[in-house]
Amino acid sequence: MKILVAIKRVVDYAVKIRVKSDKSGVETLNVKMSMNPFCEIALEEALRIKQSGLASEVVAVSMGPSQCVDTLRTGLAMGADRGIHVESTAALYPLTVAKLLKALVDVEKPGVIILGKQAIDDDCNQTGQMVAGLLGWPQGTFASKVLLDTEKQVATVEREVDDGLETLCLDLPAVITTDLRLNQPRYATLPNIMKAKSKVIKKYTPQELNVEVKSDIEIVEVTEPPKRKAGVIVSSVDELIDKLRNEAHVI
Ligand code: AMP
Repeated sequence: MKILVAIKRVVDYAVKIRVKSDKSGVETLNVKMSMNPFCEIALEEALRIKQSGLASEVVAVSMGPSQCVDTLRTGLAMGADRGIHVESTAALYPLTVAKLLKALVDVEKPGVIILGKQAIDDDCNQTGQMVAGLLGWPQGTFASKVLLDTEKQVATVEREVDDGLETLCLDLPAVITTDLRLNQPRYATLPNIMKAKSKVIKKYTPQELNVEVKSDIEIVEVTEPPKRKAGVIVSSVDELIDKLRNEAHVI
């Protein structure tokens, strides 16, 4: 069984985000970019499934500008067998990414697709659900534990919900999206970074996959959140209660 993993190139989680002066978006020029943390977890899970003998190949897919190849090389150095780059300089919103993934599923025929639960740049949390909908496949989102049974062709997915843990049983093929607690992604070792240089990355354009890159979403303006006002230090509980009652009017 083949596993397809979607990995997105995003602004590194440790970078302090700056809004462009024309308010058209977030500054990405000369900014450190990395693999989306939830996608690292997705790839790690696919690699563990392959190591346990339940998958034959892990294919990493990234969509976006030419620099996505760097993200794919990181994924290949972690252990993915091959990469696919869908090159587009246009902004790719979740529905377009989901359509492109569906088109790749028709070519690659994976048994499982694993995605991050969300990309930390746009925090959309939509792509996995949309691709499952387009394919008509079952979905296990926000997975904190995944068990595959390739004989019975089912995946058991544990997910953290508000009142505890929910366990889902999905018929394969299925879509899984990963939560933080699923695993701790590995670092690429130097020999694997060297090996990754010779692994194959196949390129597609959205046109070759018969997907039109268009969006019904228009970003009107991006602004910084308002600065938080300084807090007040109170000297007693009585003073706190007084302020909550008479200044904030919340009790
Ligand atoms: P989102 O719905 O944008 O929060 O993204 C959820 C997940 O979809 C990410 O963690 C990735 O696994 C996948 N994804 C979204 N955009 C891309 C992209 N441009 N390239 C590869 N994977 C993506």
